[in-house]
Amino acid sequence: MSDHVIERIELYLVRMPLISPWRTAYGSDDAVESLVVRLFIDDLDGWGEANAFQQPTYCPEYSRGLFDVATRFLAPRLIGRPIGTGNEMQRRFALYKGHPFAKAALDLAWWDVAAKRAEQPLWKFMGGSSPVIRPGEDFGVTDSIDLLLDQIADAADRGFPRIKLKYKQGWDLPMVRAVRKRFPDLTLHVDCNAAYTLDDADMFAELDELELAMIEQPLAHDDLVDHARLQERIRTPICLDESITSPDKARKAVELGACGFINIKPGRVGGITPALQIHDYCLAHGVPCWVGGMLDSGLGAHAAAALATLANMKYPPDIFPPSKFHRQDLATPALALSDELTMTLPDTPGLGCVPVPTRLSEMTVETATLEV
Ligand code: MG
Repeated sequence: MSDHVIERIELYLVRMPLISPWRTAYGSDDAVESLVVRLFIDDLDGWGEANAFQQPTYCPEYSRGLFDVATRFLAPRLIGRPIGTGNEMQRRFALYKGHPFAKAALDLAWWDVAAKRAEQPLWKFMGGSSPVIRPGEDFGVTDSIDLLLDQIADAADRGFPRIKLKYKQGWDLPMVRAVRKRFPDLTLHVDCNAAYTLDDADMFAELDELELAMIEQPLAHDDLVDHARLQERIRTPICLDESITSPDKARKAVELGACGFINIKPGRVGGITPALQIHDYCLAHGVPCWVGGMLDSGLGAHAAAALATLANMKYPPDIFPPSKFHRQDLATPALALSDELTMTLPDTPGLGCVPVPTRLSEMTVETATLEV
C-alpha cells in the first residue's frame, strides 16, 4: 500500500522568450520566467508551474523569488511527508506567510499526480462537466484608437464572446466611449490594474454609463474597503483580481460588498486547492467568477483552463495558447484554439501535458532537486 509520500521534488527556474515584449501598466517584459516543479509520489509524477513577472510589479512576488522560496522553504516542508490532499499540502505551507505563486507551483504538481492516480483528466477530477472552454480576447494600449477599433472589429467578426480592454491614465474614457459607440452590443470590460484611487470616483461614475460587463481592479492591488465604497456608487460590477490572494480575502471581499465578480488565477491565490475553495464559496454566495492566466507555458495554461470548466465560471476566461506569445511552448501537447474560438482539454489522466525534455534543459536557468 502506498502512503502518498513525496519522494522527490525537482525545481526549475525557466526563462521563456516572448515573440514580442509584454506591455502593461506595470512595464515591459521580454521573457516569462516561471517556476516549474516536478513532484514524485508513489510511482507517479506530476508537473506544476507558476510565474509572477520578473519584477514585483503585478504583486509582491517575482519569478526568481518563487524559485528561491520554493527551494529553500516550501519544498523542504514537503519532502518525505505523506501528502494525501491539497489541504494537507497547504497546511504544510502555512508556516510561511504569503508567497501564493511559489506555493501554487507545488500545489498544481500535486493535483497533476492526484488526477493521474484517479485516472481522470484534471478538469474532470476538479469537478468540470465539459472539456470545452471559450476564451475572450484582450487588447492593450495601441498606437491609436482607430487601430484599436479595427482590431476589435476583427475579433468581433471572428466571434470572440467578449472583449477586455486595458485601461489607464491617458487611455481611458474617450477610448471606451469610442469602442462603445462603434460596438453598442459587444460584451466589453476594462482592466485598470490598480491604477486609480477613490479620488477618481467621478470618472468611474461616467464609465458606469457605458454598459460594461465589469470594471476590473480599479483601485489598489491589496485593497478591499475602498472598492466597497466605489461599488456603492456604481452599478457596473467591480471585479477583483490583484486583491484576491487567498480564500480568506475572497470571503472578506464578498462580505464587504467590494465586488460583483472575482477573477481567479491559480498562481495568485496559491494553487488549485485555494482556487477551488474560492470558487465554491463564491458559488454559494451568488458571486460569479472567471479565470485568468499569467502568460504561463502550456503547463500553467492547462491548469488554468481546467479551472475554467467549473460551474461558477460565468465569464469567458483569459487563457491564450502559449504559441500566441511564446517563441516556443515549453510543454506538449500544445493547448490550442481548435476553431479559433474554443479550446478542448485533453482526455488523458492528469494535467494532460508535460515539458519537452530538450526545451526544458535549454530554458532552465537554475535547478534544484530534493530527495528522500
Ligand atoms: Mg487583471
